[in-house]
Amino acid sequence: MHDIVIVGAGTGGCVLASRLTENPDLSVLLIEAGARSRKLETKVPAAFFKLFRTEVDWGDSTTPQSGLDGREIVFPRGRMLGGSAAMNAMMVLRGHPADYDAWAANGCPGWSWNEVVPAFARSAQGPFPLAQQREPSVLTEAFVHAARAVGIPFTDDLNAEDNAGVGFVPVSQRRGRRFSVLDGYLNQARRRPNLTVVTGALVTRIVLENGRAVGVAYRLHGEDVLEEEALAESEVVLCAGAIGTPHLLQLSGIGPRAALEAAGVEVLHEHAGVGANLLDHLANGLLVKTKGVETLATAESLRNFARWAIRGRGPLTSNLGEAAAFVRTRPDLAAPDLELLLAPVLFEEEGLKQPTEHGLTLAVVLLRPKSVGSVTVRSADPLVPPAIDPCYLTDPEGEDIATILHGLRLARRVLSQEPLAGFVDGEILPGDEARSDDDLRAHIRQLSQTLYHPAGTCRMGSDPLAVVDPALRVRGIEGLRIADASVIPELPSGHTNWPTVMIAERAADLIAGETKTRS
Ligand SMILES: Cc1cc2nc3c(=O)[nH]c(=O)nc-3n(C[C@H](O)[C@H](O)[C@H](O)COP(=O)(O)OP(=O)(O)OC[C@H]3O[C@@H](n4cnc5c(N)ncnc54)[C@H](O)[C@@H]3O)c2cc1C
Repeated sequence: MHDIVIVGAGTGGCVLASRLTENPDLSVLLIEAGARSRKLETKVPAAFFKLFRTEVDWGDSTTPQSGLDGREIVFPRGRMLGGSAAMNAMMVLRGHPADYDAWAANGCPGWSWNEVVPAFARSAQGPFPLAQQREPSVLTEAFVHAARAVGIPFTDDLNAEDNAGVGFVPVSQRRGRRFSVLDGYLNQARRRPNLTVVTGALVTRIVLENGRAVGVAYRLHGEDVLEEEALAESEVVLCAGAIGTPHLLQLSGIGPRAALEAAGVEVLHEHAGVGANLLDHLANGLLVKTKGVETLATAESLRNFARWAIRGRGPLTSNLGEAAAFVRTRPDLAAPDLELLLAPVLFEEEGLKQPTEHGLTLAVVLLRPKSVGSVTVRSADPLVPPAIDPCYLTDPEGEDIATILHGLRLARRVLSQEPLAGFVDGEILPGDEARSDDDLRAHIRQLSQTLYHPAGTCRMGSDPLAVVDPALRVRGIEGLRIADASVIPELPSGHTNWPTVMIAERAADLIAGETKTRS
């Protein structure tokens, strides 16, 4: 019996377990399906994509996407201590004040920019320091200059109040190595006697008694059927991520009736919102051959490895997404709706292909998607993954594809400016012959992929479809809260990791406040 049981040791879980156990009177159990990874690729920034489809990745794909020529998109998410934060691209970008003000205005009082800033600051000033990249590529610097040449202003802080502009991306690294929430939060808390961490344990269901979550059932690694139970005196907090959390609720009988019944799960609490509202950042881009410059294609050498290991220097410190430009496609928009992201390497086949020639990727990221998808349980067997259907590019007005198209044209203009143009040795994809809107639309459908930012599947809000209230409590169930990317009601015009850190920081405050009131 513990006071709090947390499911999932990713971004949300690491932050929350660490913050809660600062109070020695509170006992916390943190349960994670994966293990602590010893893989070097979790430490070497430039190697993060080599973790895809390994044992530290859940190995998901989406359902066939009608908006993307029926393709099933590779959909990585971390399955290890640190979760997705142990395999992500380390970019620390929180978005624009208007994003959070919109959360507050749309049913999430208490989450406006001014109210979330202290939690962002608390993380950055302590366990989640933002670092500058140590050795950005020559191509990255050239991109920043080229973007300025088309009128995108330079910013030395992409997390400033207005994040519009082009600049170098801050990273969660220390001395050229990944420094994630696992390092900054959980590892600092591991020795506390009031924290127990169980790894290799797949949580299969939330144990409910009279409408209250009293614990969870889990299977230890290798056990197909045998379940153990962990009980929570005070509450259960789900931090299993935007895919894992709605799946677990649905497996536990909390979710949309028809979907649960179709999967053979007994409905204990009908809730249409669980798993609805899957939002994600879709990325398309230009793949460009380069000349006269070394790219990450040849970064993997003994010499570079030694530089990285001994001095934390060299190209292996690159997180790939080295510079970004945040832009508004219309001046009246409250926040940027498009991001151009420069990687000094060819990022091909959704990261599954090792680059063999020198090149760059100029990605176009759709920051404010109108298309909305879902996560749905497929079977009562917890080992069967849920259906992940982001419904990319299916908004009826076609705004999403139009915005990416706008971005592709802008990306080409940037590429044609010096000093970047001097490094360009021809466009590989979509290729110089792809000129018309139809050509570019075809390219978008053939080549877009996820930027790995699923969110919103247990949306916070005050309406009946919202899954959690603004105190992150699951509506209709006592003793159950959520503190991960699934509660994000609308994607920020940035990335999702730091916002998830912020959410978990605030969850710790909310839980501590309520625990104090109770005792
Ligand atoms: C390849 C990749 C690159 C990314 N790059 C960036 C980036 O550069 N910048 C950025 O801001 N964001 C990035 N992201 C996104 C960011 O990492 C996530 O938004 C963030 O980590 C989400 O945190 P979370 O706590 O919601 O989920 P996660 O960190 O995914 O944690 C969920 C945890 O729960 C565990 N779990 C799930 N189900 C169960 C279960 N049933 N039982 C037990 N444990 C369970 C999982 O194994 C995992 O450890 C990236 C993500 C990926 C995958």
